[in-house]
Amino acid sequence: MPDGLLHPEFESLIPAARLAVQRSLWPAQWDHVRRHSVFYGRKLAGRMPATLALDALESLPFTDKDELRDSQAADSPFGDYIACPPGAVVRLHRTSGTTGRALQLANTAADVAWIARIGGRALYASGLRPGDRVVHCLNYCLWTGGVTDHVALEATGACVVPFGVGNTRELIAAIVELGVTAISCTPSYPALIEKVLREDGARAPRELGLRLALFGGEAGLDNPEFRARLADTWGFAPRNANYGMSEVLSNFGSQCEHTGDLHFHADDFLHAEIVDATGTPLPIREGAVGELVCTHLRKQCQPLLRYRTRDIVTVTGTGPCACGRTAWRFRVTGRADDMFVVRGVNVFPTAVQSALAQHPAIASGQFRIVLAGPGPYDRIDLRVEAAAALPEARWPDAAKALEAGVRRVTGAGAVVTMLAPETLPRTAGKTSWIERRPA
Ligand SMILES: [Zn+2]
Repeated sequence: MPDGLLHPEFESLIPAARLAVQRSLWPAQWDHVRRHSVFYGRKLAGRMPATLALDALESLPFTDKDELRDSQAADSPFGDYIACPPGAVVRLHRTSGTTGRALQLANTAADVAWIARIGGRALYASGLRPGDRVVHCLNYCLWTGGVTDHVALEATGACVVPFGVGNTRELIAAIVELGVTAISCTPSYPALIEKVLREDGARAPRELGLRLALFGGEAGLDNPEFRARLADTWGFAPRNANYGMSEVLSNFGSQCEHTGDLHFHADDFLHAEIVDATGTPLPIREGAVGELVCTHLRKQCQPLLRYRTRDIVTVTGTGPCACGRTAWRFRVTGRADDMFVVRGVNVFPTAVQSALAQHPAIASGQFRIVLAGPGPYDRIDLRVEAAAALPEARWPDAAKALEAGVRRVTGAGAVVTMLAPETLPRTAGKTSWIERRPA
C-alpha cells in the first residue's frame, strides 16, 4: 500500500471498489432521510419508496441553498431538514452568509468525526505530516474555518497552533519563536504579511522558514503565476488544500504534490454528480464541465440530496495519480453566481485574475471588477493596481497591455483603470474581486 496516504485502505481503491463502498452506504442513508427528514418528506411527497437504488438518484429533484434558507426561516434555527434529535447535536456552525441569509449548521458526534477524518485526508494529501507545526490563521468564530479546520489539521497528526486572524506582527514572532513549519490561511493573507515585513524591514518572507502553505477559502489559487510568485517569495510549497462548502462538507478537495488539480477525497461520504446547464448529469470523465451536485452518504444531522453547490468544475483526470490516490481530479472553473456575461461571453473573475497575473512587471495582482447594474455588460470594467516599481508615466501603456491580455484569456473586451500600488485593501478574510454598483 502507498505510504503517503492517510487512509490507504480507501484512498487507493480502484473505481469499481469505490462505487461498491458508495452502494453499501446508500441504503441506510436513504432510509435515514426517508424516516427523519420532514423537509424531504414534504419535497418528495409520494416519491420516497422504501428502497431507492443509488443509480436512481437522478430521478430526484435538486435541492438548492434557497430551499435550505426558507426551511430555516420557517423553522428556526436548523430548518426542518434536520434529521436527528436536537439533543444529538454536538457542534454548531454558521455559514459566512456572503451570498444571502446565513445557514445554521448542526452536526452530531459522528458527523463531526467524519468531517475531521476527510478534512485530515485532504490536508495530508497536501503534504502536512506528523512532526509539522502548523499555524492556523483563519477566524475562530461561528464559521467552520476556525475550529472545524483546526480539528481537521490535527487529524493529520501535525501539531496545530491556533492563531486566528489579525495581529500580523504577533503572528510573525510566533512563527519564528515556535519553529512553525506550515501555515494554514487564505491565499490573500501572505500579501498582508509581506507588507508588514516590508514596513518593519527586519526579515524577508523566506527567513520565516515555512516549508508548506495550506490555502483555502478563496478561488484563484489555480493560477500558476500566482503560485510561482508565492513559492519564489516565501520558499514554501503553496497548495490549495481546503476546498469544500460547510453545508455539505467543510473540506473534501485538495492538491497533492503531483498535480495542480484538486483530488475529490470524499467518495465514502458524498456521492458527486456533474450536471450541465440544463441539469443533465454528465459522466465523470476527463473534460466534463458542469456544476458540482452532492448527495450525502453518511450524514446524520442535516442530510442533503442532490444539493447544487453552484460551483462550476472541470474534471481533469480519473486515472491513478502519481501520489497513489485513485480519487478523480478537478478544477473549480468559477461560481455559477459570480459568472457574468459580456457580449454573450461567460466571464469568471478567476480568469481575469489569471490574465492579470501574467503581467507581474506592471500589475501587483490586486484588482476589482466593477459591475454597474444587473447587466448585460458590454465590457469588463477593471480597476488594477500598478506594480510597485512601475513609474506612473507608464500606466497608460500598462493599461493597454492588460486590456489585450484580459481579452486574450477571457475572450471579452476590457477597459482598465490603473490604481496606485497598495490602494486596494488586503484582507485576511475573503477578498471579493467583484464590486457591484448601481447602474
Ligand atoms: Zn495525487
